[in-house]
Order: sequence, then structure tokens, then C-alpha cells
Amino acid sequence: MSKGSLLSLQGTLNNGLLRDRKGRIARKLRVSVTDRCNFACLFCMPEKDKISWMPTEEILSFEEIERIVGVLASLGIQKVRITGGEPLLRRDLEELVSGLTETRGIRSVDMTTNGWHLERKAEALRRSGLRGVTVSLHSLRSDRFAKISGIDALPRVLRGIDRALDVGLNPVKINSVAIRGYNDDEILDLIEYARERRISIRFIEFMPLDGLGMWNYDRVVPGKEIVDTVTRAYPLEAQGRGSSETSSIWRFKDGRGDLGLITPMSEPFCDDCDRIRLTADGKLLSCLFDTDYHDLRHAIRNGGTQEGLADTILKAVWKKPEGVGYMPWIKEGWEKPRNMNAIGG
Ligand code: SAM
Repeated sequence: MSKGSLLSLQGTLNNGLLRDRKGRIARKLRVSVTDRCNFACLFCMPEKDKISWMPTEEILSFEEIERIVGVLASLGIQKVRITGGEPLLRRDLEELVSGLTETRGIRSVDMTTNGWHLERKAEALRRSGLRGVTVSLHSLRSDRFAKISGIDALPRVLRGIDRALDVGLNPVKINSVAIRGYNDDEILDLIEYARERRISIRFIEFMPLDGLGMWNYDRVVPGKEIVDTVTRAYPLEAQGRGSSETSSIWRFKDGRGDLGLITPMSEPFCDDCDRIRLTADGKLLSCLFDTDYHDLRHAIRNGGTQEGLADTILKAVWKKPEGVGYMPWIKEGWEKPRNMNAIGG
């Protein structure tokens, strides 16, 4: 699809790129393929009896996702991360991975997963062209893992990580949400686990997107505190945050891997954000904290043209909020429009 053929008035304003009012250009897309999850992480999902899943008929098919990604790629998206909910709950996900890796303009497809189905699926995913995988791991103690993630699954998740390494998914990374009073005493254990396997580990600050409403700033473990803790055990060298990257990187001076800190709460990095999100029911979100949304499912299911879809996308991205760093009320507790599982983290 040629970019020129898709340009409208809005497209001219954006210069045919996914540019917003602040001049940021989106290059990365997170695609949520389901809001469902077989885990119930306490910083993500609502209570069981308060969950209302997206109706099945509203969930985008793989063909619909591929069509939208095709338009986004023609407008400059280069990297896709598949997420959810739990993406590996979608049957035959490797078919979507193949379709996305074959999309013109897409350079890499990665996935974030809870690891439950990874041991079984890693090889097929690798064969379908998946580049790397990020596995969420918030504790290495079985009882605590079960308390935080709502399921007794630690050994199975660890086997999934080993399998991902064995089949050559690259990079394999770990995401850990550090929560004061829950797992902040395990930071060094998690780091040692990652270092032994030469896996990069990323600690993410707890964001007020949780379904239980338990977030408050006292529960956030700031990145700086993690660096102080780690430095006492392992000499670190600051590498900084690459342009538009989410993590600031610290290299272990002995050469055994690195540590990443994702600090949306204590040191937001919205000024060069290059990410947008597609929810499982086809809404385009230009920011994790977006309160507005743009319904692409409606556009494609009602006979919309590629040009019309491109125009809706360009308009949505143009209105991208400045970001969480410019929304101080979020730290006071806010009426979030959706929980993390329905956004796709
Ligand atoms: N189910 C997959 C998983 O567990 O990785 C993918 C979806 S999950 C929403 C994506 C990432 O968001 C995970 O690493 C998770 O730990 C993180 N996450 C979820 N809720 C969060 C919150 N309130 N604050 C910070 N990170 C969160």
C-alpha cells in the first residue's frame, strides 16, 4: 500500500507520518489480542466477580488485526509487540505472528506473556517469526507468586522461560512490577536469577491502572531506590535511556547482563514516546493513559476504505495526550477508563 494514496487533509498535516501535536512520531505498536487472562495479578485484574470481559464478537479477528497493522505500517509503524490480557490464550497465535512478520514495513514482532503456555508454544512461535519474548515474573517464591499473580504457576513459568531460551527466541526478557510490601525484598533474588541466565530484567513502577484500585504512590518502588539497592550488591554502570525507549539501562560491570528501569511514575519519559496501542476490541489508544479512544473495528466492519482508516488513525494519533508526566491528577487517584488487562501493557 503506498503512503501517498492514503493521505488526506489530516495526513498532510501529519506529513504522512503518525505524528502528534507535540511532534512525536509513533514507530511502535502494542497489539492486545485479548483482554482475558488466566492469571489474576493484583496490580492488573479486577476481582473475579467484577470482571466483564469484552464480548467475543467484538474481539478483532487475526485478519482484522493484520489489516489494521498493514495500514499502520504504511504510516510508519515498524515494530509490533503482541500482548493482552494473556496473548497465548488466543488459539493459533503463531498464525497472527506469521501474518504480522510478513507485513511490509514491520521489522520485528515480539510478545509479552505470563509464561503459562510458553513451554508448549515457544518453538512454534519461533518458527512463525516471533523475535523475542518478555515474560512477567514478580516473585521467585511459589507462595508469593501465587499471591501476586493469583495462580500457583511458578515452576511452569520458569520452564517456559528456559524453553524460550532453548528455542532461540531473542531477546528473552523478564518484566517485574515492584510493589512495596509485596515483592520489594526480592529485587536482588530476581536479578540473580536473570544474571545466571544472562537475561535482561526490567523493573516497572506500579501504575494506577489496576483493577482492584489498590494503587497509591506509597506502593510504588521508585527506580532510583532499585538502583540504590542493586548497587550495594553489584557494581553498575549507567547506560542511560535510548531515544524513545521505555527503560533506562544499567549494565552490570562484570559483564553479566543488564538491568532496566521503567519509571513512568517517578521519572516519566513521555516527551519522546513513540508507542501507540490497539486494544483487542479494535480501539486505538495513543497513550496508556488515554481517556479518549478511536474505534477502528467499527470503521473496518462497516465497509470503511483503507484511506478512511488511515485518516481515523492519523486524527487519533494527532490528539495523543502529552503523557502521564503532564497529568498530575493521576497520582491523586483518577477515574481510569479501563484496566491494564483491557489496554495491553
Ligand atoms: N499477560 C501478559 C503478562 O502477564 O505479561 C501480558 C499483559 S500484561 C498487562 C503486560 C505487562 O504489564 C506485564 O509485564 C505486567 O506485569 C504489566 N502490568 C500490568 N499491570 C500493571 C500496572 N498496574 N503497573 C505496571 N505494570 C503493570
